[in-house]
Amino acid sequence: MYLGDEAWPDLETYFDRESLALIPVGSTEQHGPHLPEGTDHLIAEGLAREAAERTGYLCTPTITVGVSPHHRQFHGTMWVDPPEFRAYMESLVRNLTSHGLDRFIFVNAHGGNVQHLREVGRRLHGDETAYAIEWMWDESIPELVEELFSVPGPHGGPKETAMIMHLAGELVHEDRLREARDGGLVDWGRESGRQFGARTFYDAIDNTENGVLGDQTDATPEKGEQLFEAATEQLCHLCDWIAEKEYSDLMPRTHISGRASGE
Ligand SMILES: [Zn+2]
Repeated sequence: MYLGDEAWPDLETYFDRESLALIPVGSTEQHGPHLPEGTDHLIAEGLAREAAERTGYLCTPTITVGVSPHHRQFHGTMWVDPPEFRAYMESLVRNLTSHGLDRFIFVNAHGGNVQHLREVGRRLHGDETAYAIEWMWDESIPELVEELFSVPGPHGGPKETAMIMHLAGELVHEDRLREARDGGLVDWGRESGRQFGARTFYDAIDNTENGVLGDQTDATPEKGEQLFEAATEQLCHLCDWIAEKEYSDLMPRTHISGRASGE
């Protein structure tokens, strides 16, 4: 069920019966010469709406702008600063609880949002307002990502290219895949962007001239469909897991007693 499509009288039974909502969160930022700026929010929304459809849980409208200052040198990138993003997301969840919801999944597709969504979840958990967790689609299926691509690329690479080919193929500039690969950085390894253990860069442009990493020519719509199916399946399992929990089991444990353990 998609909240934005429903009339209010038709939501009452959902709020009576269920306590979970999926909140898609992405970004609007450069994704190289071949992918749309909406890549991350298209992926987040695609997965969240599909999982909501399959499980019957509620999907809210998508948060389309996230924390992306590290892409600001490229035309069109939009972002909000971390304090405002955190405050907005926290307020949004806090207010959704007024309808009786008490657990939320941030269906996330932008790495730059991760730490902020985790912090928002921590605050809401800390004062026992709600249980909200961050779920990053590609981290739910690491083996498949590794199996499909020799160099998946953390940003604008074949992984995201394949997903957009599957979800919104008309927005992919297939004639620019080679250009994307040759003008960016193909091999992003463990030592990339580091000196003596320190991460030395702040902006994407410091590592890649055209904004992307990985070998985009390795992407196909079929691989995108495989990724989409596998990640959706993981997300559906997560929905059931979180929905079936007792609320008290999701809340902070009480302070440990004075007695040493093992007595
Ligand atoms: Zn992305």
